Amino acid sequence: MIKYKLFCKNCTLKFDSWFASSNEYERLKKKKLLTCHKCNSVKVEKTIMAPQLINSKSKTSENFNMEKHHKIKKTIIGYQKFIKDNFKYVGDNFAYEARSIHYNSKKKSRGIYGSASNEDLKELKEEGIDAQMIPWIDENEN
Ligand SMILES: [Zn+2]
Repeated sequence: MIKYKLFCKNCTLKFDSWFASSNEYERLKKKKLLTCHKCNSVKVEKTIMAPQLINSKSKTSENFNMEKHHKIKKTIIGYQKFIKDNFKYVGDNFAYEARSIHYNSKKKSRGIYGSASNEDLKELKEEGIDAQMIPWIDENEN
C-alpha cells in the first residue's frame, strides 16, 4: 500500500488516498476514476511526497547534518570575531585577569577572553565572578 497526498486543481482541496501501488494510481488516473472528495473533479494530481520514500535517505540526513554543522561553526566564528574585536586576550592568565578586574573596581573594566581550566571557572564562580564558556574553533582547522 502506498499513500499519496492528492491535490485537486479545481477546488484546491488536499487529501490523502491509499493505493495498492503507484501503478494503480496511474491506472485510476487514466480511467478518470480519481476524483476529488469534495467537488468530484477529475483534475486531481499527486503532490510531491515527503522524502521518506527516496532511497538516498542517509545521504540526505548526512547533508543536513553537514549543513547544520556548517551553520553552527559559522555562528561560533561570528562570536569569536566579536570577542576578538571587543575583548582583550589574556591567554592562560584568564583566571588571574578576571580576579584583577573583579577586585580592582578602579581598573577599566574591559571584557577579557582566554583559556581557563574547569577548576578555575568553578573557583571564579564561587567568588562571584561571572565567566562564560564558549566553544572555540581554531581558525586553521578546516
Ligand atoms: Zn475538488
